[in-house]
Amino acid sequence: PTATARAVDVLVIGGGQAGLAAGYHLRRAGADFAVLDAQEQPGGAWRHAWPSLRLFSPAQYSSLPGWMMPPPPAGGYPSAADTVAYLTDYEQRYQLPVIRPVSVRAVRRSGASLQVETDAGVWRARIVISATGAWWRPYVPYYPGIGDFAGRQLHTADYDGPASFDGRNVVIVGGGNSAAQILAELSAVAATTWVTSRPPRLLPDEVDGRALFDLATRRHQAALVGESATGIGALGDIVSVPPVREARDRGVLKAEPMFTRITSEGVAWSDGTTLACNTIVWCTGFRPALGHLAPLRLRGADGLIPTDGTRALGEPRLHLLGYGDWTGPASATLIGAARTARTAVAEVMQQLVADAR
Ligand code: FAD
Repeated sequence: PTATARAVDVLVIGGGQAGLAAGYHLRRAGADFAVLDAQEQPGGAWRHAWPSLRLFSPAQYSSLPGWMMPPPPAGGYPSAADTVAYLTDYEQRYQLPVIRPVSVRAVRRSGASLQVETDAGVWRARIVISATGAWWRPYVPYYPGIGDFAGRQLHTADYDGPASFDGRNVVIVGGGNSAAQILAELSAVAATTWVTSRPPRLLPDEVDGRALFDLATRRHQAALVGESATGIGALGDIVSVPPVREARDRGVLKAEPMFTRITSEGVAWSDGTTLACNTIVWCTGFRPALGHLAPLRLRGADGLIPTDGTRALGEPRLHLLGYGDWTGPASATLIGAARTARTAVAEVMQQLVADAR
């Protein structure tokens, strides 16, 4: 198949917000590039989020380079659908060369280039930017008895609104924004119990994603010079978006410690306390979708790929964009991906020039 491989200087894998931000800068730099995306339609993970999800920052702080997200017509913080509409328009506005649906299966070293194998043929690239996100690898921690539970278990990634939870007895696991927003919604229709492994941290009403992003940036800069930065919170702390505030005021945002095992009828703690439930919602996060990079053998003990900025230490022709703080401050958020993409593409363009000499 390599005889018919299509060749570009830079191939971006993933057409979510991170891939699009990279595309914007590659286009401006005049690069020869393409973006491959596994989905039928634009929007990345946002297309799969539950309808009531609200971003934790206003539109102007949730924007990609060049063009700001328009404020939502209904006011307030943008929804997942607003974000999908923005990413769809963004892609068209900058005529980004996104090819979909194309799923990348493997990236391998092949002489001077990287060979990218997909379900629709083979590509060759001098540099690959991987921006495949994390939505595709939901994480559920193991608890003894998890397989015995007779009720329904689902992950944040499967949640699509409260309709099927009427009158249920639900345990919601996890201390972040997803858990708080889903709890706020489910507590209006079901009996809910919230369990978290550490006491959840609810930010003051006036603090939103902007402050968290600034803090992530300061922490990153401080870490570079061996210092630490402190501030009002951390990415992962719960932003008091209006539905969460309303749930707090109803008194339902009280968390229990984490249970230690699961039975067929519910959950149990080490002191012998038990709780009957018929639904467990795991709001326990995601892991980066890096399976297509396995042939490069770059993963460290923590399952992540060590990088200098966005460039993989073990393979300088590979950049990783998005995913989390390990590839750039808050780079799994819209504003973080936007900023990280700029420096990543500047480095990629330098690499291409150096390569051609
Ligand atoms: P994705 O959106 O996942 O896009 C990756 C794309 O790559 C997808 O289209 C996927 O189909 C494709 N892909 C994956 N694997 C392959 C492959 N092998 N081959 C080809 N294509 C592939 N961020 C904020 O800024 N503000 C918020 O308020 C906010 N709230 C959030 C709330 C929740 C519940 C969650 C889960 C996240 C939230 N985020 C928020 C974080 C973040 O913005 C999103 O997770 C975002 O979707 C990450 O973008 P991405 O481009 O890195 O990845």
